[in-house]
Amino acid sequence: MFTSSQNHVDVSLASFGCVETVCFEVDIFCQFLLSLVMAGGMEEKKIPVYIGFSESLIKNSEKIDWTVNKIGGVPVFSPLISDDCLTKLVDHDLLCSKCQDPCLFLGQIISPVDDKPVDRVLYFFSCQRNKCDYFVVVRCVSQSANKSDDQNSPREKMDNDDDRDDDEEVYWSDGDESEDDQINESDNVSSLGPPKQLPTQKLKQIAIFKPFYIGIDDEEDLEKERKSSRQTSELSKEMPLIEPGGDEQYENVELQTVFKGDRASYKFHKKLRDHPDQMIRYSWQGQPCLNRSDCELNPTACEHCGSIRNFECQLMPGLIPGLKPFSSSDKTSNLLDFETVLIYSCSNNCIDSQVNLEQYFILKEPEDDMLEEFLSRK
Ligand SMILES: [Zn+2]
Ligand SMILES: [Zn+2]
Repeated sequence: MFTSSQNHVDVSLASFGCVETVCFEVDIFCQFLLSLVMAGGMEEKKIPVYIGFSESLIKNSEKIDWTVNKIGGVPVFSPLISDDCLTKLVDHDLLCSKCQDPCLFLGQIISPVDDKPVDRVLYFFSCQRNKCDYFVVVRCVSQSANKSDDQNSPREKMDNDDDRDDDEEVYWSDGDESEDDQINESDNVSSLGPPKQLPTQKLKQIAIFKPFYIGIDDEEDLEKERKSSRQTSELSKEMPLIEPGGDEQYENVELQTVFKGDRASYKFHKKLRDHPDQMIRYSWQGQPCLNRSDCELNPTACEHCGSIRNFECQLMPGLIPGLKPFSSSDKTSNLLDFETVLIYSCSNNCIDSQVNLEQYFILKEPEDDMLEEFLSRK
């Protein structure tokens, strides 16, 4: 919204001749905007947050293509991603820069963010030695099967699937589109040919987790559900709900001590307590949920187009137990160690390169018995 207001000011500037008049008019315009906001006539547009949870196991018999949101299994790529790109990925990019071991495949999500006629898929990998703290986030873009049909562009498709506003900025599909949509999507993409995978000998090293679908919910809807269920429970008197975007109050004075007066930490862990099994939080160009307020995050510009990187999503600790190794000798808790991993991607969603490495920040879990006790409260 701020951007569009700014555009209005720019238009005004172009239509006036005198600098003093322009300043005066802009000032008046700003005051007018402010008065509208104060009067509640113009609310700041809220960027929705979508939460991903683990759903059913993907059976061997189910044909999975690159448009499916899932954790584990093998990474699945569009047949249009070139062999050269995939070879470079597996032989170079997916090797941990610290120990040189191949990174494990954690999951992939399809996340169209604009009108470009491409399938945009994010892939998440991590070194299996938690000491390395090494992730790889890959943004793959390839021509969409729906390219020639404007009615079925990714943006149109998502807009038609639910009741979001036409100018909504986020298109990660919500949990209502279940297997029926996935099957339809498979039919659409089949015209491009079978999906691509990495060489089998490499897959044995990197695909060690069982595949599960990711189900997606709008955080606001979940809050509404909680609110209605809490209204009948005694708990509601003790635990005020988080007001989205608001500066929530501590439930009791003691918690101010637990969180050392850090409201960001409190907010993060309260969200974690509400949905301990959340694996991913998605909010394109939204704000990350930080586990403490003193994080210094300075995302770098995209190496391909020079655009700034903006927040896209974050991996949550619920992902760790959600990843179930095929072999019982692999313990996920020994492989991954993070409280949240923030992912920043090219704000321009540039498509010159099919395979793009994006930026991440790993935030660790503080060792704190009082925090443990808070998270276990119901
Ligand atoms: Zn490593
Ligand atoms: Zn870029």
